[in-house]
Amino acid sequence: MVFARGVRKSYGPLEVLKGVDIDVPVGSVACIIGPSGSGKSTFLRCINHLEKLTGGILLVDGAFVGYDLRGDRLHEVKDDELCQRRAEIGMLFQSFNLFSHMTVMENLVEAPIHVRRLPVDQAKAEAMELLARVGLSDKVDRYPRELSGGQQQRVAIARAMAMKPKVLLFDEPTSALDPELVGEVLQVMRDLAEAGMTMVVVTHEIGFAREIGDQLIFMDGGVIVEQGNPREMIADPQSPRTREFLSKVL
Ligand code: ATP
Ligand code: MG
Repeated sequence: MVFARGVRKSYGPLEVLKGVDIDVPVGSVACIIGPSGSGKSTFLRCINHLEKLTGGILLVDGAFVGYDLRGDRLHEVKDDELCQRRAEIGMLFQSFNLFSHMTVMENLVEAPIHVRRLPVDQAKAEAMELLARVGLSDKVDRYPRELSGGQQQRVAIARAMAMKPKVLLFDEPTSALDPELVGEVLQVMRDLAEAGMTMVVVTHEIGFAREIGDQLIFMDGGVIVEQGNPREMIADPQSPRTREFLSKVL
């Protein structure tokens, strides 16, 4: 589903990604860990083309997100086409990013109506199903400020799912939450993984990575230092840098 080879990204003279290779098969969960500044968020942003690569290739569901191959040359796609393609890639952030002036229902139906062009009734029916899945049917008419952080993040996940994404990208989705609210968000993510959603998750929740991850990727300094089976890697890291990092977060 997500296929990266030699992905590079520089900001001026600063090279943040120095050749990243990743394979995330359909229906699997890849967890990415690594110290601050190692390029984790930048890599996620490259996947949905919020950042333009400076080298390498990145495919989502077999297609270059920001480009079309015509003849033997890549051409950048136009903005409206890029929006359509991005709509198939859900992204969740630490800061929830709900529309604060809209109710939960309005948050959930906005993009399905305007981007997927669903009829209002169908969008609302799908929204109710998704709210039931994340356990928030009773919050349908509430505004984000009336919800806890954990509830807001669950609404954000439901909103992303409302676009029927091919893949969900999570950038530290529980880092801004009080500890007692982390579990309810991880449970929703666990349910999605079990339902076969393809997910790339940047997280410091090592327990989640061990239990739910099909692969664990340790990034440092813009490269992948080590990747493999989460249980094996956590129990017996091969690289000293991985070992040192894990000893700090475990
Ligand atoms: P954290 O764990 O703190 O979220 P991260 O692994 O997600 O870190 P990134 O946010 O990807 O790291 O940043 C990697 C490096 O790229 C950092 O040195 C950062 O300062 C730099 N960087 C990120 N975005 C930009 C930008 N838009 N312009 C210039 N430099 C940037
Ligand atoms: Mg980050």
